[in-house]
Amino acid sequence: MKPASQQLSTVGTTIFTVMSALAARHGAINLGQGFPQTEGPADVVRAAADALLDNRNQYPPLTGLPELRQAVADANRRFWGLDIDPAQGVVVTSGATEALAACLMALLDPGDEVVLFEPLYDTYLPVIRMLGAVPRLVRLEPPDWALPRAALAAAFGPRTKALLLNTPMNPTGKVFRADELAFLAGLLQQHDAYAVCDEVYEHLVFPPARHVPLMALPGMAGRCLRIGSAGKTFSLTGWKVGYVSGPPALTAIVARAHQNLTFTTPPNLQRAVALGLAKDDAYFAALAADLAGKCARLTAGLTRAGFGVLPSQGGYFVIADIGALGFTGDDAAFCRHITEHAGVAAIPVSAFYQGDAPGGWVRFAFCKTDAVLDEACARLAGHFAASARPQAAE
Ligand code: PMP
Ligand code: GLN
Repeated sequence: MKPASQQLSTVGTTIFTVMSALAARHGAINLGQGFPQTEGPADVVRAAADALLDNRNQYPPLTGLPELRQAVADANRRFWGLDIDPAQGVVVTSGATEALAACLMALLDPGDEVVLFEPLYDTYLPVIRMLGAVPRLVRLEPPDWALPRAALAAAFGPRTKALLLNTPMNPTGKVFRADELAFLAGLLQQHDAYAVCDEVYEHLVFPPARHVPLMALPGMAGRCLRIGSAGKTFSLTGWKVGYVSGPPALTAIVARAHQNLTFTTPPNLQRAVALGLAKDDAYFAALAADLAGKCARLTAGLTRAGFGVLPSQGGYFVIADIGALGFTGDDAAFCRHITEHAGVAAIPVSAFYQGDAPGGWVRFAFCKTDAVLDEACARLAGHFAASARPQAAE
C-alpha cells in the first residue's frame, strides 16, 4: 500500500497525551498536561446545559453566534482598549487550536517564512510545515527568557510573512513587556509582515506583570490576528471554543479556512461563552488571583523539595531546574522517573524545542487544588530525600 502522509507520519503523539497516559498508568498526580482540576463557573456551565435543551443544536452562523461575536468585541474593548467589529472582525472557532491553524492557513503560502520563538507550543510547527511554509526559530533560554534582539532581527527577511507570538507564554510563564512588543512591532512594520497572536492565557496574568496585546501597539491593528480561548478563560478546557479578532480584511480569510476545517462550533457552548465574557471584572480578577496563589504555593513546595523554580508571570505553569537533585539522566528521563517512582508527572522542557534544548528543566502545572499541589510536593520531597540517603551513607 502507498504510505500515508509522510509529514504526519513523522509527527509523534503529543507529549501532553504521552505523559497523561503514563501518569494514569502509575496512578501519579498529573502536573503534566495543563488543565484545571476544578470546573469553571457554574452559571456558564448551566447556560450551556440550558442551551442544549433549548433547540440550540443546529448549525450556527459560520463565523459564530452574533451574541458571542458581540461579547468578544466588547471584551476586546473592556480589557485591552481594542476596537473590533463584531460583525466582520471576529471568527469563533473550535478552540484556539483550530484558530491557530485557521490563522496560519489564512496568511501563509508555500515558501513563506514564519518567525517563532522556542520553547514553542506543540501544534505550531506541524501546521506551518503542512502548509509548506518555512519556520524561522528564535530561541529563548532559561533562566530569564530574554528576547535575543539581534537573532530576532536576523530571522526576519524579505520572505517573512508572519510572526507567531505566544504571550503569556507556554511553557515559560513569560509575559512579553511593552518594550519587547515595541521591538517586535518595529520588525513587523519594517518587513511588512503579519502577526498571529496566541493569547489564550490573556486573563491568567500575575501582577505586577501586565498583559499587553501586540495588536494594541500603534500600527499593529491591521497586522494582527489575536486568538483567545474560552477553555482557559473559563477553566473549561474540554469545551474547545476559541475566537479570532482582527481586521475584517484578514478575518474574512480566516473564515474561509474555518469553513473548510470545522465550518462551525457548537452553538450551545457559544451561547454560554457569550455569557461568560460578559461577567464582571471581579470574576477575571479572582481567576488570576487564584492562579497566582497556586503558582506561589507550588513554587514554594518545589523549592523545599530541592528544585530551582523560575518565576512565572502568567498561565498554568512553572519551570523548574532539576540540577540540584542528583539525577543523572536527561529531562525526559527525569519526568518518566518521577511519574513512575515519585507519583508525580511533569513535562520535559526539551519537548518544546527542536534539536538541542537547554538541559535539565521540567514544566509543572499548578492549576490544581491546594491539597493536590501539597501532596505532589510532599511526594517529590520524600522521594528525593529518600534517594539522597543511601548516597549520603556511602
Ligand atoms: N495555545 C497555547 C499556548 C496553549 O497552551 C493551548 C492550550 N493547550 C492552546 C493554544 C490551545 O487552546 P484550546 O484548548 O482552546 O484549543
Ligand atoms: N495546553 C496544554 C498544555 O500545554 C495541553 C493541551 C493539549 O493537551 N493539547 O499542557
